[in-house]
Amino acid sequence: MWNILKENDFQIDAACKLKVMCTSCKKVMIKPCQVPCGCRYCCDCLTNYLDGEEKFCLGDTDYCKSELINIDKNVFVDQAINREISGIVVKCPLESCEFKSELGKMANHMRTCDRQALTCPYCSIGCEKNNIVVDKMELHFKQENYCHAKLLMDFVDNWRNEMKLFKTSVLDLREENKCIKEQMESQQVK
Ligand SMILES: [Zn+2]
Ligand SMILES: [Zn+2]
Ligand SMILES: [Zn+2]
Ligand SMILES: [Zn+2]
Repeated sequence: MWNILKENDFQIDAACKLKVMCTSCKKVMIKPCQVPCGCRYCCDCLTNYLDGEEKFCLGDTDYCKSELINIDKNVFVDQAINREISGIVVKCPLESCEFKSELGKMANHMRTCDRQALTCPYCSIGCEKNNIVVDKMELHFKQENYCHAKLLMDFVDNWRNEMKLFKTSVLDLREENKCIKEQMESQQVK
């Protein structure tokens, strides 16, 4: 769940977001933990902020400046808020997909979401299709069969030519080396 939360921008309504927002980065918390004043942070945000020291909370309640935060002594993982975050209902982050589910279950859906855009594997040699939804990939292969084959042949041809050029340049280099050697030798003789 934390990974998809990190990598995607989910639309979450403001009231709900306020409850599950990190005191530091103001986003939905990733691995939330609670400090003595009751404020909550992403685990990473808190570690970065404290940077090995004891500091007061960044929040602005009266409690925030009453006790120093010490990561070993008074920071707690809050399971209740974990559950709350995993229960937030969100839409699949892929634009054309209208699927909605709880955040905790979204990772499952995203693994199999058929709106996921894929890149044609022939892209690296020139096919320009780079956002094909999964169920259209087969169709693309059928339609572009000839083009794909041609791309492949061109690629092989190109590669062959490059190899030829490479070979000749190696031969040239060898020839050059020989000349230099001969020059040096003839100078030493003098
Ligand atoms: Zn944060
Ligand atoms: Zn606080
Ligand atoms: Zn989806
Ligand atoms: Zn293609």
